[in-house]
Amino acid sequence: MEVKSRRTKLPHAVIIKAPGLLPMLYTPREICEELGIAESTLRDWLQAGVPHQRDNRNRIWINGELFAGWVTKQRKPKMATSLNEDEAYCMRCNQVSKLIFPQIQPIKGNLVLIKGTCEKCGNVINRGAHRDRTSELSQN
Ligand SMILES: [Zn+2]
Repeated sequence: MEVKSRRTKLPHAVIIKAPGLLPMLYTPREICEELGIAESTLRDWLQAGVPHQRDNRNRIWINGELFAGWVTKQRKPKMATSLNEDEAYCMRCNQVSKLIFPQIQPIKGNLVLIKGTCEKCGNVINRGAHRDRTSELSQN
């Protein structure tokens, strides 16, 4: 069987529960019970790169902390790309907000600063971006 290198889409329940796993070794069955998933699902994830080890009787053991780390890694790229061109992280709201009247200011070379007002609290927020990725916005 081929080892998959692409990222695995995880059920929301797993993302919520995985950080509660302890830094100890679990059997696949225990992991499945903790997270409420099928053993066949876990087997797919082992193929997809879940850190695990085998003992001298070829039994699989999974460190809960390493498993939680793997879960985190699966969702990181999604977080990074979830920011739209008219969105920025508002420090006051402590979350991603939509920008009202975003303005683009050139910084240097291909870098621009997107400056706008937080839709939720009215705080002025800005973020850096690449010009080629903001072309759509500047035409508006
Ligand atoms: Zn805000």
